[in-house]
Amino acid sequence: MALFPPERRPTVDVVALGDVPSRAVATARTTVEETVGTVAGTRRGPPPAEVAEPTPAEFAADDQYDAGSLLEAVADASEADLAVGLTDVPVRHRDLTSLFGLGYVGGDVAVVSTYRFDEGEDERFDERVAKQVRKQLGRLFGLESTHEGCVLEEAPFLHRLDESAADFCTDCRERLVDPETAPRPPEWIVRDSPTVADADADGNGGASDDDLDLSLRTLPLLAVGVAVLPLVALARGVARLSAWESTLPAGVRRLIHGSYRYLRFWTAVALFFLFALLAVLAELSLYERLAGSEPGVRLFWGMLVVALGSGYLGQRWARGLVVGAYRVFAYEP
Ligand SMILES: [Zn+2]
Repeated sequence: MALFPPERRPTVDVVALGDVPSRAVATARTTVEETVGTVAGTRRGPPPAEVAEPTPAEFAADDQYDAGSLLEAVADASEADLAVGLTDVPVRHRDLTSLFGLGYVGGDVAVVSTYRFDEGEDERFDERVAKQVRKQLGRLFGLESTHEGCVLEEAPFLHRLDESAADFCTDCRERLVDPETAPRPPEWIVRDSPTVADADADGNGGASDDDLDLSLRTLPLLAVGVAVLPLVALARGVARLSAWESTLPAGVRRLIHGSYRYLRFWTAVALFFLFALLAVLAELSLYERLAGSEPGVRLFWGMLVVALGSGYLGQRWARGLVVGAYRVFAYEP
């Protein structure tokens, strides 16, 4: 039975990266519908070879494709709330090779590789795809642990995957459906998840490792009560907007999400220049105060480099502040 009530379901895309077995796409879509209740959109992404250079790995016979690049391609091809990519090439994440699937906990994109799923065994093949798609959806919903008796069980080998449960265990299901903890828009992660994945900061759904580490733990950064108050109102407003937005037809929501991405990107650019400008002005005035003269050309270039770095960090910090406030305040009573 689908996890979410009809009036509040995330949109989900199944993204085929290049040519993948058509039964994999069909099975993935069925699994999305059974799990989430949403009819999955189908998107075509670029073939893996277009976005990543396969590299040899120590313990794998075949060259491996980096999961990060594939996840980015999946994110680019989709404007749904969540997206599961499919590929038939071997996928690695750091030292882990020929993975069945990968998705960051609390992120919004995952990838499933059918490379080791034997296509000759139709039924097994479908089961494997279905388990991986469901497992990755669980991870995107913020379920972080692997445990027995659950589709989230660790399954590094095919026989382990075949023996693992096809569905969420009672505990996981409980967290996904209980109104207190059920994932809600726009982040779609279980509310009791300790995950720190930043699902929003850079448009690829927390897929990159250097994502801003944002959580309650970093929040003391803004332990400035006064500054936080307007953010509370903003966060609640956004929460109300997204609750309303989730009742709209999928097509309209895609449109909204598309423009939201543009807005987010250009806000980041504007913030970058703002912080860089402020930094260069601060550096100049500090230098003039200390040295009593204007800096030479070389020093000025140095200052500019520092200012650009500050611009980058500044815009991340500012966006982090907003996302953090949203996490904390949007759903308080
Ligand atoms: Zn479980």
